[in-house]
Amino acid sequence: MQDIAARRARLLGPHMTTFYREPVHVARGEGVWLWDTEGRQYLDCYNNVPHVGHCHPRVVDAIAKQAATLNTHTRYVHDAILDYGEALTAKFEHDLESMMMVCSGSEANDLALRMAQVMTGKTGIIGTDNTYHGNTTAVSQLNSSKLPIGGYQDHVRQVPAPDNMVPVGGSREGQAEAFAKGVEKAIAELEASGHGVSALIVCPYFANEGFPTLERGFLDRAVAAVRKAGGLIIADEVQPGFGRIGSHWWGHEKLGFAPDIVTLGKPMANGHPVAAVVTRLEILTAFQEQFKYFNTFGGNPVSAAAAMAVLNVIEDENLISNAADVGAYTVDLLHDVASRHEVIADVRGSGLFFGAELWRDGKPATKLCSLMVDEMRERGVLLHSEGRHDNTLKIRPPCVFDRANADQLAETLDAALEAVT
Ligand code: PMP
Repeated sequence: MQDIAARRARLLGPHMTTFYREPVHVARGEGVWLWDTEGRQYLDCYNNVPHVGHCHPRVVDAIAKQAATLNTHTRYVHDAILDYGEALTAKFEHDLESMMMVCSGSEANDLALRMAQVMTGKTGIIGTDNTYHGNTTAVSQLNSSKLPIGGYQDHVRQVPAPDNMVPVGGSREGQAEAFAKGVEKAIAELEASGHGVSALIVCPYFANEGFPTLERGFLDRAVAAVRKAGGLIIADEVQPGFGRIGSHWWGHEKLGFAPDIVTLGKPMANGHPVAAVVTRLEILTAFQEQFKYFNTFGGNPVSAAAAMAVLNVIEDENLISNAADVGAYTVDLLHDVASRHEVIADVRGSGLFFGAELWRDGKPATKLCSLMVDEMRERGVLLHSEGRHDNTLKIRPPCVFDRANADQLAETLDAALEAVT
């Protein structure tokens, strides 16, 4: 491990992120399991990228077959992207009938922002104050963890993100209105400074914000205000998308609003670098009339085959209802664990995206949360932390997670809390 850490620091830079005090040196994966180079097995409760399970044979086979037949850049005509595009857009209930494929969530959000600016003729962007949408120069303006060089640009506004423990506006009931007021203030500022509003961009599950519990309709007033100001709504579905939340294919359906642009990534092809922007044809057309956009790898035959296999597996293995069933079962177990450990101040989540927020002595228990993440790793269960104070255990396993896996998670959590607190 010493040797690999030194090699990484030299080659990839000393601050390249890894998880855990003792990073896991992975060798192999299958379903919800990972094995390290010494053969130790871990229950993976964190990876949302292998959405249908690590190394799912149908995805592996689809990639291998297409790679052995043809892979090329995207300026030729090929059926795979069209077959996939038709299958994907059929999963959207309203008029999001067109798409562009790219290679990362960052690229998808960058493209979405550009589309919104072309479509509206305005430049202002509104996001939340505790989020992450990716790492291009434009998109990193929205990120809250590190201030961009030169600070935030004047066309970007961040509004307070919703939160379970410290709700915007002081109460959970009043949170939607308080959030909308933040958006309305941002709109007024952007209009006064001449930028106007091109888009509100939000993750409809507020995943990086700490996935607070929100009522259907939470965004309605904010969405109406943005539309009234002539702006578009971008739903960043990189984390909640593809049925992870159990009740719906997409987070925006659960919240009950209709975005103009949806961005997708991470789970889309089970680890193969595939992402997309899904939108109305009129938006895509306006963008293409303005910019000659080309993406060498976006939607190449192998990527499209991988993504198609994922879509098929989600349906054939009923993974959305599995997420609903096992997710609800696990949240019940977490409530049970919480009844024995008062440091758990809140248990929340939907489908296979849930967690527990830790507080001690009336304060967010950030350090304890970090200790718990390492303790769980030592006990063979991989999860991580999230939220404004990094004090929420974030649990987001591959969607083939089953009840026996949930039992193991809850038992390990119980024992780890016992040991650490
Ligand atoms: N949007 C959200 C909500 C994300 O969480 C992330 C990555 N964590 C991204 C976009 C960026 O995706 P990528 O790393 O594929 O560029």
